[in-house]
Amino acid sequence: MIQFDDFSCYYKNKNEFFCALDGISLTIPDGELLAVTGASGSGKTTLLRCILGQCEYTQGRLLIDDVDSECFDLKSANIGYIRQENALYPHLTVYENIAFPLRAIHTPQPEVDRRVKSIAQTLEIPYLLTRKPKHLSGGQQQRVAIARAFIKNPTLFLLDEPFSNIDPQLRMEMRQLLKKLHREFRPTMILVTHDLGEAFSVADRILVLKDGKVSQLGTPIELMHTLREDTL
Ligand code: ADP
Ligand code: MG
Repeated sequence: MIQFDDFSCYYKNKNEFFCALDGISLTIPDGELLAVTGASGSGKTTLLRCILGQCEYTQGRLLIDDVDSECFDLKSANIGYIRQENALYPHLTVYENIAFPLRAIHTPQPEVDRRVKSIAQTLEIPYLLTRKPKHLSGGQQQRVAIARAFIKNPTLFLLDEPFSNIDPQLRMEMRQLLKKLHREFRPTMILVTHDLGEAFSVADRILVLKDGKVSQLGTPIELMHTLREDTL
């Protein structure tokens, strides 16, 4: 469970502090798929960065599984994180890209093989396993990035506008894949997206940020009549 309690985050520019998250209170229960939306600059990426312990100047409380985020042990936590641009290792095959996090913890080869093939199956990319990244389309690369981020079955999966460089047809497919991953593995998922259609079709709840504050929070049904592109 993730709890923000009157939580603020600042960036320091020279001697000025800029408030990027302003008194956020929010509880994200285990297994929820939360979509976070809002205009550019509203603090969406900052929210994820705070969970990842990458923000220096904060106020209020952020608890992850009841532990204050400042004491939270990120190294041993099983968190998947993907961004818009996910650099795959260009010299490694898709198989080795996906296997990389398991190799890093010295997982035995039969187990690596089983896990890589299983996640490749879920993401419908077994036919890509022997290729190198430069022979993949943008959408295929993003699937490989998701497979790599998912290979250790993260209990928390953070996605920062992962599909914004992908064409609309493929985005629809990726939505279905995300839902499938969520159904199969039940991680807590936070999906930052500009795409309201995406938010409404996949999320359990939608959070709308505006100028670093919670502007709206509710289920897709609750927000159906209040949330439109022009309200962001
Ligand atoms: P979003 O992801 O919603 O577009 P961000 O969380 O990236 O927004 O940024 C929120 C605000 O914080 C923006 O006004 C942005 O300019 C500012 N900001 C983000 N990163 C930094 C930084 N490293 N230094 C200073 N200001 C930053
Ligand atoms: Mg962002």
